[in-house]
Amino acid sequence: MNLASSMKKLVIMKLGGSCLRDGPSFQQSLNIIKEYIKNNRVIIVNSAISGITDKLIEFYNMACQDGLNSLSILHDLFESHQKIIDSIMPPNSEEHDNTLKFLKKNIEELTQLGRVIQLLRPSQNILDLVLSYGERFSTYIFSQYLTSQGFSTQFISSDEIILTDDNFGRALPLLGETEEIFNEKVVPLLKSNDSLILCITGFYGSTKEKKITTLGRGGTDLTAAIVAYALKPVYDCRVIYWKDVQGFLNADPKLCPKSFLLKTISYIEAKELAFFGSKVLHPLCLDVNEKREIPSEIRNFNNPFSPEFTRITKEIVRDEKIIKAITSIKRLSMVTIESGTMISLPGTVSKLFSLLGENNIAINFISQSSSENNITFGINIEDSMKVSALLRNSPFFGKQWFSIKIDNDISLIAVIGAGMLHTPGIAGKIFTILGKNNINVRAIAQGSSELNITIIIERKDCKKAVNVLFEAFINDSTSR
Ligand code: ASP
Ligand code: MG
Repeated sequence: MNLASSMKKLVIMKLGGSCLRDGPSFQQSLNIIKEYIKNNRVIIVNSAISGITDKLIEFYNMACQDGLNSLSILHDLFESHQKIIDSIMPPNSEEHDNTLKFLKKNIEELTQLGRVIQLLRPSQNILDLVLSYGERFSTYIFSQYLTSQGFSTQFISSDEIILTDDNFGRALPLLGETEEIFNEKVVPLLKSNDSLILCITGFYGSTKEKKITTLGRGGTDLTAAIVAYALKPVYDCRVIYWKDVQGFLNADPKLCPKSFLLKTISYIEAKELAFFGSKVLHPLCLDVNEKREIPSEIRNFNNPFSPEFTRITKEIVRDEKIIKAITSIKRLSMVTIESGTMISLPGTVSKLFSLLGENNIAINFISQSSSENNITFGINIEDSMKVSALLRNSPFFGKQWFSIKIDNDISLIAVIGAGMLHTPGIAGKIFTILGKNNINVRAIAQGSSELNITIIIERKDCKKAVNVLFEAFINDSTSR
């Protein structure tokens, strides 16, 4: 018997907030697990219950200002969780009691934390700690629910098993160290009981100093990928991301009614999709899946056994379509820094990106004109004021020989497909089509990977641009 066939199949399931919204969705999750458990071993990674992370952010913000209002948020949090507990577990059952006790104890901890927050200056460290309670609640409830249904389960708080750097709010996993911890703690646990279902909290880990860190919004996807990464040497792993959508579509259905499901897509293309506008998956989880070639699926929680889902694999599917998707970020800001004088740009560029990096500003695209006296880059529109202040207050960029322009009325379109690499003329075709349709291109960028061409246009043209490009590259039967 070879190693692969002797390995037990392990499915790591990420259950998002919408899979844990209310009693019926807990039941639906249970039905899914019952089906998969027939032929696989299952590990569950849970997000917080739908809307709870936002409530915890609100709690934190309120606690920074006003004690009383923050207490009423905790009260709401308690009630919304209690309502779910009551609807899925029989009253007076052991699991119901355990869960309620757990909830009370943790709400009490949050109450204490609220007091501490009032005394301290706002800090991302404490915010991360506060946010981790959302996943703690949902996962504990879920594990007790499974227990009440006759499964043997083990609740695991992910700070015990996932190590990260100390970039609070958007921490990166330390994969090597995490794998070691898994070998020490998780593998023996799995081996000790063949039918044990681990229920792991998503979204957070901890630093080496045992401080809780979060992995960025939507980070539970990344947790599921990390778990698969760490167990891949021992188990034949697959990840299923349960979502309230079918999978990756080839354009935003709100803008482009003809968009349809991508049934198979490579990691590298899916990463571009996740980065450029499709909010289906946390972009980093695909990187982690790719590192160990972990087969991944996005499936629709509301139609769980449908053959319509997205499978993400290593292989690039080469069919007649070179372009796989036209994605868009409708709202973003474009910053242009121009220098009239002969300031050397290489030094300027590094100063610019250090300044933005230190202040946690994510950049969507960069483009630089060949005359080398201006540089343009895209940022999230929410960061626009912050970037403006940073640049104007910086001793270097605030000086008079730089002019700084920020345009908030633009959209980004990315034309994506791995086949572009070997096909000349794609860019030419894009510009001809946009030109014919009177769409003005404000900036262009191409990733060095040549997996996408990014175009910046005025926001009023966004919908039209997506549709004309979709028609030309995807819907046109003659397109190549
Ligand atoms: N609960 C976190 C959030 O809402 C993480 C997640 O849902 O994946 O961002
Ligand atoms: Mg969520």
